[in-house]
Amino acid sequence: MARKGKVEIDRELCKGCLLCIRACPMKVLEKDAELNSSGSYPSKALHIEKCIACGNCFEVCPDVCISVYEMEEAKAS
Ligand code: SF4
Ligand code: SF4
Repeated sequence: MARKGKVEIDRELCKGCLLCIRACPMKVLEKDAELNSSGSYPSKALHIEKCIACGNCFEVCPDVCISVYEMEEAKAS
C-alpha cells in the first residue's frame, strides 16, 4: 500500500524558488497565488491527499522550509 504523507511549508521563510514543486513526483505542490511578507510567491501543498512522504521536497529545499511527516495507515477492523 502506498505511504501517506503530510507536508508543512513555512510560507514566510519560502523564497519561491519552486525547486520543491519540480521535485515532487505526485504534483502535490503548487505556487501560492498570494505573496508572502518578503514579496515571494511561496510553495503551497494544494493536493496534500496525493503525498507519499517521499521526502524529495524536503531534500531539495535550500532554506529548510518544508517538514514531511509520514502518516499512519488506518487499520481495518
Ligand atoms: S514528500 Fe514527496 S510526495 Fe509529498 S509533497 Fe514532498 S515531494 Fe511531494
Ligand atoms: S524549495 Fe523551499 S524555498 Fe524553494 S519554493 Fe520550495 S519551499 Fe520555497
